[in-house]
Amino acid sequence: MSDVLEKRSTMPVDRRGHCASGPPILRVEGLKRDYAQPSDLIDRIGRRLQGKGKPPLVRAVMGVDLDVFHGEVLAVVGESGCGKTTLGRMLAGIIPPTAGRIEYQGQDIAAMSAQDRRRYELGVQMIFQDPFSSLNPRMRVRDIIGEAPVVHGIVGRREVDDYVSELLTKVGLDPDYRERYPHQFSGGQRQRIGVARALALKPKVIVCDEAVAALDVSIQAQVLNLFMDLRRDFDLTYVFISHNLGVVSHIADRVAIMYLGRIVELASAEQVFSQAAHPYTHALLKELPRLSPGKRRFDPIVGELPSPANPPAGCAFHPRCPKVMERCHDDRPLLQGIGPGHQSACHLNEVMPGMEMPVATPRYLKRTVEGRE
Ligand code: SF4
Repeated sequence: MSDVLEKRSTMPVDRRGHCASGPPILRVEGLKRDYAQPSDLIDRIGRRLQGKGKPPLVRAVMGVDLDVFHGEVLAVVGESGCGKTTLGRMLAGIIPPTAGRIEYQGQDIAAMSAQDRRRYELGVQMIFQDPFSSLNPRMRVRDIIGEAPVVHGIVGRREVDDYVSELLTKVGLDPDYRERYPHQFSGGQRQRIGVARALALKPKVIVCDEAVAALDVSIQAQVLNLFMDLRRDFDLTYVFISHNLGVVSHIADRVAIMYLGRIVELASAEQVFSQAAHPYTHALLKELPRLSPGKRRFDPIVGELPSPANPPAGCAFHPRCPKVMERCHDDRPLLQGIGPGHQSACHLNEVMPGMEMPVATPRYLKRTVEGRE
């Protein structure tokens, strides 16, 4: 994947962890999403007999503040069930938030006119994990890619064939494939069709939800290369959702680490991989497979992700944290700046006297940088 690595840009970041490249294209503030737990009749009767009320809500996303800047690749990383896919779906307008606000190009999407709302919905597209189930098996590739741009007036019916051929070429497929059906393609080719379908609507932001997770490692590298080429050719911005820090290390400019519905660390990719501050980020880094003869190949994170319907008090990571302290049990740490472009939510970060902004405890950071954790 070294070719991919070379295509990553070095985005400048400001003190709040933002790429200093103008106003954000997407901004979310206090974003929350709850789900009611499904319950059948027996469940409801049982709860009533026990004097219990409705089952607790599943709090998938519990207050996320985030900016996405034009041209960057922002990776959102965490274990399954941490809320990253729900966050991505809210960004793409597929599901509405329970609370909070989303701004697209400076406008609150909840207050947009119908015309601006359509501009937002076309401008933010999503690519899904499973390329097969996200493509209609009864439609030819020409219609899968060409239908929406015709409906939205991006291209006329007469030009749609040429438009689809051009997009297929851009994503590395033979234009003659446009008459085929999804089952006639390999997994990597199907993901390329999914990319072409998203590009057909001329988006500004693409939310990739585990877009390479279902592919072989060799194909993953090709598709990641494709994403980076398309970013250059189409001036795209990516929100790249993944459970694998190894994958995002090749393409991300910034990385947001999510745990149980909240962002617990946000920093440039270089900072995350060389001076991560949050114990959960360290645990994710340790999980990456390593090729060192005679040593264990990877260290899985101890314990299970707690239920988002019943999150632990205090720091949500405390039942699994090797650094847990007394106060972590009932005092939830806030996400705060710990250095230029670097935010973390952990009590191991403390306010230095005379500093406007909290910074990381130097001793702790020094130990982690030297890899002695
Ligand atoms: Fe661990 Fe405490 Fe930091 Fe949470 S606040 S990550 S439990 S040290």
